[in-house]
Amino acid sequence: MKYDCLVIGAGLSGCTAARLLAEADKKVLVLEKGRNIAGNCHDYLSEAGVTVHTHGPHIFHTVYKEVWDFLSRFTSFRLFQHRVLSYVHGMTVPFPINRDTLNAVFGENISTQDVQEFLKQEVKNSDFKVPSENFQDAVVCQIGERLYELFYKNYTIKQWGRDPKELSADVAARIPVRSNRDNRYFSDKYQGIPIGGYTKMAEKMLDHPNITLMTGCDYFQIKDNLGSLYDAEKGITVYTGTLDQFFEYKYGNLEYRSLDIQFKTVDKEFYQEAPVVNYPNDYDFTRITEFKHMTGEKSDKTVICMEYPKQTGHPYYAVLTKENMEKRAKYMEEVKALEKTGRFIFTGRLAEYKYYNMDQAVKSAMDKVRGVL
Ligand SMILES: Cc1cc2nc3c(=O)[nH]c(=O)nc-3n(C[C@H](O)[C@H](O)[C@H](O)COP(=O)(O)OP(=O)(O)OC[C@H]3O[C@@H](n4cnc5c(N)ncnc54)[C@H](O)[C@@H]3O)c2cc1C
Repeated sequence: MKYDCLVIGAGLSGCTAARLLAEADKKVLVLEKGRNIAGNCHDYLSEAGVTVHTHGPHIFHTVYKEVWDFLSRFTSFRLFQHRVLSYVHGMTVPFPINRDTLNAVFGENISTQDVQEFLKQEVKNSDFKVPSENFQDAVVCQIGERLYELFYKNYTIKQWGRDPKELSADVAARIPVRSNRDNRYFSDKYQGIPIGGYTKMAEKMLDHPNITLMTGCDYFQIKDNLGSLYDAEKGITVYTGTLDQFFEYKYGNLEYRSLDIQFKTVDKEFYQEAPVVNYPNDYDFTRITEFKHMTGEKSDKTVICMEYPKQTGHPYYAVLTKENMEKRAKYMEEVKALEKTGRFIFTGRLAEYKYYNMDQAVKSAMDKVRGVL
């Protein structure tokens, strides 16, 4: 049988594209090089009876109702509002920075009305370039040097293994600071954790009579032998793997930052007071996650994970340096030309070399598939 579409990768981007194409009556072949589906969102039920996120904590949040509604067809969400604490000066304080954070770290008693004025003074007493030349400038111009040093500088050095001055200002974007006591990590309207997990949700997305899934199949190893299954000249190819690999690295390798994620089962009901505690200045890991807080599962044991950033390994985060962005731009020119034919879609965090949250990955796949249909 010949398929109408080939989807490379069964992460959230690939699952979204495959489902939408299948619902448009296309016969879809999905190739996944790993043994599991769901990509970075993969999760599983551990022996402790707690669902664990294989690639670090994943909290779904979005402002896009259409994305929330689309995924809600394949899972129910546990209504969960994420909270993060940051360990600084020997205390755990709310993060992102809010009024309570400021009062705790500076021993002040600032009111909600005075927070903006306080930050203005912090910025005024700081040194930075306008427009921002790098990550450090972009953060300092919003919150000042003292808060940058406490919460962002060392975390960024650990996370990226680089001086924040070498990183693009885009990595910082808008630093959320709350004048009030709101201690939610995200303020998106829709937030939650799929009941039963992300992997189950992905399985349901692919559960369609028009979809065939083949795991353990690396596209690059089998592409020359796909002729009997798929005609690339006629069909729609959706690529969600790494951008540089598709073009045989012709403009050079695009760098990724990786993580060594260490899991531990702890013989007590709870380990810490929040789902995630950041350690910007202490230890070599960036944060500790305790999954139970997110999933609401009951067990007399708990599972935590610590993330140790590293240079090589599973490609987790695109490194947004000037060099990488220049290479990306060259690859994206090629992508544009292929997408113009209406026979190719490059979508997802790897294929677009972009940091995408899950909802952005789903949205990009939705928009691009609609574009070709
Ligand atoms: C540590 C971490 C924490 C995160 N936390 C959050 C969070 O809390 N909230 C949030 O919204 N987002 C979070 N994200 C982002 C989220 O993981 C991504 O947005 C999402 O997984 C993107 O899905 P994707 O399908 O584009 O990519 P991926 O999940 O990487 O899927 C790509 C798939 O393609 C497969 N593939 C690649 N090459 C080939 C090939 N040649 N042949 C066949 N298959 C191939 C891969 O094996 C993989 O399964 C986090 C990311 C990381 C790294």
